Order: sequence, then C-alpha cells, then structure tokens
Amino acid sequence: MPSKDILYSIGRTSVGQLIKAVDAEKGISYTCPACSQVLILRKGTRKRPHFAHKTLSPNCTPETALHYVFKILLFSKIQKHFDQQLPLEMQWDCPACGGVHTGNLLKKAVKVVLEHNLGTCQPDIALLNEFNCTVAVIEVVVTHAPEQTALDYYKNNHIAVVSYKLKSDEDFNRLDAPILKPDSVDVCKNPKCSKCENYMSKKHLLIIDGNCWKCQAPMKVAALYEGNFSLSDIQLATQYGVLMKLHYSRTLGMKYVANTCRKCGAFIGDHYLFTDYVAVDSYNRQELDAGYYCHHCSSNSEDEDSEDFE
Ligand SMILES: [Zn+2]
Ligand SMILES: [Zn+2]
Ligand SMILES: [Zn+2]
Ligand SMILES: [Zn+2]
Repeated sequence: MPSKDILYSIGRTSVGQLIKAVDAEKGISYTCPACSQVLILRKGTRKRPHFAHKTLSPNCTPETALHYVFKILLFSKIQKHFDQQLPLEMQWDCPACGGVHTGNLLKKAVKVVLEHNLGTCQPDIALLNEFNCTVAVIEVVVTHAPEQTALDYYKNNHIAVVSYKLKSDEDFNRLDAPILKPDSVDVCKNPKCSKCENYMSKKHLLIIDGNCWKCQAPMKVAALYEGNFSLSDIQLATQYGVLMKLHYSRTLGMKYVANTCRKCGAFIGDHYLFTDYVAVDSYNRQELDAGYYCHHCSSNSEDEDSEDFE
C-alpha cells in the first residue's frame, strides 16, 4: 500500500547523480534511482516538488525508493568522511541509562560497506575495522524491521546497531544535519554497575544558594535528584561551601548526612530539602557532574566511561 507521506523526491540525472526534486529542472530527463524507469518532474502548488514515473512501474514503490536512496546517501556521506578523515558525530537517546549520548560513529571503523554479506544477515550499511570485522551496522527501516536472527547475530558478535526509521521522504533532510540523529543506537556509554551489571545513569549534584530556614542566614545547600549522598558527593559539596554533618533522625531511627547551617547549626531534613530548596526556583543553583548512579540497585560509582563511540 503506497503511503501518502512518501513522495519520490529524489531522482537520478543522466550522468548518474542523485538530485533532489527541488533542485531539478523541467525539460531535463531523470530516472528513478530504484527501478531506473523514466521520471517526470512535478512542481505544483499543492505538494512539495517531486517526481512521478512516466509510465506505470508496478515493481517500484515509494517505500523501496526511500529505503534505497536513503541508504545510498548515508553510505556516500560516511565514505566522504573516511576520505577526508573526519569524524562523523551522532547523538542518541539511550534507553539503557535514560540519558543522551554523543559520539563519533566512525571511531572504531576504517571502512564502510554497502549490503555487507555476513552469512546470516546482510545489513544495509556495515562499518568494518582494520581486521575486516564488522563493528557497527546501520539499518534503514521503512517497512521491514531487521529479522530477529540478524539482531541476535549483532548482539552475539558485539556489533553496535544504529537504526533509522523513516516515515517520509522529508527524512532525507536528516542527512544534511551536522550531527546525525538516528532513531536508535543500542550503545550506552555509561559504565555498568559493578553490583548488578546494569548501565548506570549520570548523576548531578545541585548546589543551591539558599537561606537557612531557621536563622535566614545565606546557606549553600547540596541536593541530589535521586539517591543518597556518597562520600565523594559530600567532598564535592564541601568544596562548594556546603556544610554537611551527621544527624540522627528519631523518625527514621537512623543517622544520616544533612545540610547544616554554619551560623545556627539547624539542618535540613530530606523532605524539606526538596520542597524548600530544590523546588524553589528563585534560589540560584548550579548542577555539578557527580559520577554515576545505579537505578536498579541504588549504588554509586565513579567508574570510567566505556569507549565505544568516544
Ligand atoms: Zn521507480
Ligand atoms: Zn546510556
Ligand atoms: Zn541558621
Ligand atoms: Zn546496580
């Protein structure tokens, strides 16, 4: 079923170059990059400029053309970066840690191959290292997601999977951006928790310029969005002028570390730390990088970054 959102917006010139319909001219002949049939240019007012097959081309669909052309354009872009020895930066949302990562797609690779035959599967684009091992693949998805056998193969062979999920020929514009933003990348750059093996999340320590709730003296207050203060958090907060002291909570029946006023010695309990300081927008604050935190088992770590796309 042809989709209304996908137009044939890229054609091939008589010398074999791909051209956007916006840049094409009437009176010149173009062919379809997917099926090689003759295309005619349509520049009307109702739709954005596009091509149409001159005669019916039953084996060609906008989906196959979109898939094919996107793959070729991305491949050429990567090839160009290798030729010029430039990194190719990308950015992705990470489901493993909930953060956003950036990195060089070509970091571990020296070569790019189109439709590389890996036996059990044939990724759209493969990135190979100097030993001819596939280190990453790029899958361009329009209608067909990669087979489970392919995904298993990638996983078992430690091959990173970068996916583009295309909905419209307007997705071609995504390749013009200076930083690539694929729809998914199955690489987390954060360290794994040494206790439970899950990926950790970046942790931020807030330093708030507040006032003591009791004596109103100016008071630097440290807070975390989640988790408890680790020893290194306390050391970091201390460097920024926060006084943290051990207090005993009768309600909780335990000792805990709390922000303490230098002038009157009053301290801020966990509940009020959020409502009276973190949630008060009028207090100036800064956010410090404080290592990593594990959502799964609540442990802290100051491990080093993984280096996949560093
Ligand atoms: Zn065609
Ligand atoms: Zn991550
Ligand atoms: Zn005070
Ligand atoms: Zn953990």
